Amino acid sequence: MTKQIRAVDKMANATTAPIMGRDGKPIDWNEEVVYSMEQGILVWSREGVCVMHNTRVFEVLELKKSELAVGTTRKDFLAAAAARGEITTDKVAQAEERFADGKPFSFDRKLPSGRTVTTNVRPVRGGGSVVTFTDITKAKRAEAELALAKRQADRSHEQAREALMEQQARQREARVIAELDEWLQTCKSLDELFLIVRTFMDRSLPGSAGELYVYSNSRDVLDGACDWGDAGLHDHIAPDSCWALRRGRAYAYSPEGISFTCDHVSDQHHEPPSENYLCLPIIAHGDTVGLMHIRFDTLDSACPIKDPNGFAIQVSEHVSLAIANVKLRDELRDQSTRDPLTGLYNRRYFLDAMRNALSAAGRKGHECALIAFDADKFKSFNDNHGHDAGDMVLRAIGQQLTELFPGDEVPCRFGGEEFALLLPHGGAAEAHAAAERLRTGIEAVELRYGGGTLPTVTVSSGVSVYPACGTLPQDLITAADEALYQAKADGRNCVRAAKQVPPLGAS
Ligand code: GH3
Ligand code: MG
Ligand code: MG
Repeated sequence: MTKQIRAVDKMANATTAPIMGRDGKPIDWNEEVVYSMEQGILVWSREGVCVMHNTRVFEVLELKKSELAVGTTRKDFLAAAAARGEITTDKVAQAEERFADGKPFSFDRKLPSGRTVTTNVRPVRGGGSVVTFTDITKAKRAEAELALAKRQADRSHEQAREALMEQQARQREARVIAELDEWLQTCKSLDELFLIVRTFMDRSLPGSAGELYVYSNSRDVLDGACDWGDAGLHDHIAPDSCWALRRGRAYAYSPEGISFTCDHVSDQHHEPPSENYLCLPIIAHGDTVGLMHIRFDTLDSACPIKDPNGFAIQVSEHVSLAIANVKLRDELRDQSTRDPLTGLYNRRYFLDAMRNALSAAGRKGHECALIAFDADKFKSFNDNHGHDAGDMVLRAIGQQLTELFPGDEVPCRFGGEEFALLLPHGGAAEAHAAAERLRTGIEAVELRYGGGTLPTVTVSSGVSVYPACGTLPQDLITAADEALYQAKADGRNCVRAAKQVPPLGAS
């Protein structure tokens, strides 16, 4: 133990042995340390007077030699710093209080050059204090740069996350549109198409409400086709009741801003709607075929579609093409099954319909009837009034047929001035009554032509019934034709029944 103490003493003696400086005097290590430090150092006496400072303090605080010396008072020193704008007068007052407290404290000062210096005050025994001034500009800059880099990294991260979410939302929308498209491509009729649109809009934009309108064939109105959500579908709307249709492009209404309400949207009190809505013309191959109207005011917050407007526009484009396709298909089918002059079914379609009706009647065990009729003395009508007037009469006969028999009956222009009507569920008495109605209906038609009224045209009819007159289409047609000749022979403008064929095996 004593050996150890002696060793320490020896070391102390060795380190405290005076080392001579270049000037031949012993070096004062305390002074060397104080003067060689990176920081400015200043010692205040208990009375607040500078008792020592190192030379670095001038450099760190950017002071002139005249601004600090042993004997400078702390009061003057701090007042000068406040005058230069390095610290506020409040801070000076606070600092004086803290010096009086005798506890360590620190504060920053911003020098006019822009550098930041932190002041650390340590009380010393006897009531004075040692103050160090440290240039923390670099550290502050590094800290600011680090914070900026962190903010930038956070922003990039956020942007990447948003881009990913955006991409996912787009993919989700594309998937829904692809699925919608697949269904639309396979739909056979406009009714199917409307059902698909309603179901898709309901599911993909939950909480939205909307309506789909399609131009009627006459094109003077748009017919209500389908709606979804809490929408009120109108039976018809006028084309000029919608700004989108009038301007030929999408119309987004917003209660703020300058926009006008479409007539088909304003309520019964003509109050403008309080929420945004979108009207999208349905345009296919350059033709406006309809209108899609959508409101998002009650859209579910959990709706997976992030851009409902953009999504609705895409849907309307796909629906446009689908409507055009279905209409084109309908037109082609009509062309192959309809007579262009009267709009009635043609002979080919009629024979198919007859085959189906006879097989259904055979299966279910009910009757089925055919009326064949022919315009009387039509050749002389044409000769007297011209072919155009004759055509007008044929069209009027077609109109009578469709108006008098709007149910499951199948009206047909067989060719020339010969027509037929199939009653899929009719017996002999019913068919006879129907033929009479038709005869009197046509007889009553008055047609104005060339400034006058055309003479009445009458028809003669023959009626045949399944299975009494035959079981094959051709047999029934032949039987009805024979009855028709009989009606002609009996003076025309009358109805005759076909002969009944005795059942096989009957004596
Ligand atoms: P019947 O009372 O015996 O039936 O005498 P009909 O003159 O009507 O009979 P016919 O078969 O001799 O003449 C049919 C006429 O129908 C001949 C033709 O000019 C006319 N016709 C056929 N198709 C058309 C058509 O598409 N338009 C017009 N305007 N006339 C047609
Ligand atoms: Mg005729
Ligand atoms: Mg004829």
